[in-house]
Amino acid sequence: MSDQDYREFDPDENATDISDEVIEEVTGKKDSSTDENKGNKPTEFCYICHRPDNITGPLIKMAPGMSVCTDCMQRTFDSMGSFGFGGGDNSKSNVDMSKMPNISFLNLGSLFGEGPKVKNAHGTAKSADAEDRPAPAIDINNIIPPHKIKEKLDEYVVGQDYAKKVMSVAVYNHYKRVATGTMDDIEIEKSNMLMLGPTGSGKTYLVRTLARLLDVPLAITDATSLTEAGYIGDDIESVVSKLLAAAGNDVERCQQGIIFIDEIDKLAKKKNANQRDVSGESVQQGMLKLLEGADVEVPIGASSKNAMVPTTTINTRNILFICGGAFPAMDEIIKSRLNKHSSMGFMADLKDKYDDDKNILQKVTVEDLREFGMIPEFIGRLPIVFATEMLDEDMLVRILKEPKNAIIKQYQKLLELDEVKLEFEDGALHAIAKKALDKKLGARGLRSIIEEFMLDIMYEIPKDENIGQVIITEDYIEKKGGPRILLRTTGLLPEKAAAN
Ligand code: ADP
Repeated sequence: MSDQDYREFDPDENATDISDEVIEEVTGKKDSSTDENKGNKPTEFCYICHRPDNITGPLIKMAPGMSVCTDCMQRTFDSMGSFGFGGGDNSKSNVDMSKMPNISFLNLGSLFGEGPKVKNAHGTAKSADAEDRPAPAIDINNIIPPHKIKEKLDEYVVGQDYAKKVMSVAVYNHYKRVATGTMDDIEIEKSNMLMLGPTGSGKTYLVRTLARLLDVPLAITDATSLTEAGYIGDDIESVVSKLLAAAGNDVERCQQGIIFIDEIDKLAKKKNANQRDVSGESVQQGMLKLLEGADVEVPIGASSKNAMVPTTTINTRNILFICGGAFPAMDEIIKSRLNKHSSMGFMADLKDKYDDDKNILQKVTVEDLREFGMIPEFIGRLPIVFATEMLDEDMLVRILKEPKNAIIKQYQKLLELDEVKLEFEDGALHAIAKKALDKKLGARGLRSIIEEFMLDIMYEIPKDENIGQVIITEDYIEKKGGPRILLRTTGLLPEKAAAN
């Protein structure tokens, strides 16, 4: 082996390289002096235990001339924890500082690669998480046309054809813009969306499915929890740190992610308010920059910024924002606008023409949104506005049985593991859908209703190995009878088998 070869494999030299890289990743700065003098780096000693850094590993610089090793730092945190200042063990104290606003504790492991690692926007190293991930159904760098995106969505989401179409086109344009970076002379506008629709009609589900198909990180936030910076509540930028966490602290992935802000209607400007509206209109104002594209300084591995948490900069220009809300009372605004236009002259419509229109939200316009209390600048940054349909009985039945991971398919799979066949009569499915409609929770009510009826079955079936098939009848759902149970050996109902 020549000298040259030997130098390449020098383990100490490698160790220095790694620590520099980590420091660069965490601080975003490169220490030029160490770069130049690689291999001749002076030994540093921990300020507390006085061990040299070749034993302790890289030291954390607290102040000029004062560096501390990770062990001592951790011990300090642990002792703080035992006095009630820690986030972990609360048995020793009744003060949980981790729940206090603006106080969060840094995981030291994360600084040195044991925990979530921050990837620089231009970094090339892939996180372990990225390597394990299966290939996405839709590659955002080679994005497939909208009709193919919709086809994929169709496998999971029942109905909502218009919403799926709008979203597919918007996502196609958005990621085309991201992938090609078409930002030269013709600036393509961001395809941020505003989705209206009754509760339980699948707004969140659509976004979740889309993010999963595209394999991009997704953060879901409730607009009601947001307040203007400086007030109690999550500040607006916290949505970006949620996305960073969802992206496994990978800055590049985060910058291509989707942020879904639910209950956006709760941010409407309050009418006749004479106080400062810190959780409504101000939040709309505060979100403008974010929606458009801005550099945001976000903490890594924590939800709020403080001196102890390292931060990184995220550019939101390529982050797709989707806002959703039920917009109650919006139907009245739309109706009164439509009636105003059509109530005069010979061709006048009847005043109650729109009263039975269940999907009146689909006729929403920008003026209606302004009337509702959304500020014009905010609406302007969400150029794609559409509404989901109200789910009817037939759609609910389809939701029960058709999607790839339909609730019924899930129960069938569970019982299949016990070698029991599960079937639902059509009447039973309609009875379940009717109950869900009565609850006015949209598709969200389906699972709880079906769970109520399946509980006894899931409890009783494993008791008797002879049971081969269970048929859920309409009578069972309407509490007029029981399910039909067939035995494995005879194919007869148990009572008939007993009589034989
Ligand atoms: P929203 O956000 O509109 O209030 P969700 O998206 O949370 O409603 O819907 C609740 C649940 O209902 C979802 O988790 C999903 O399982 C189911 N669901 C709703 N709409 C559909 C649909 N169109 N197709 C399939 N499942 C749906």
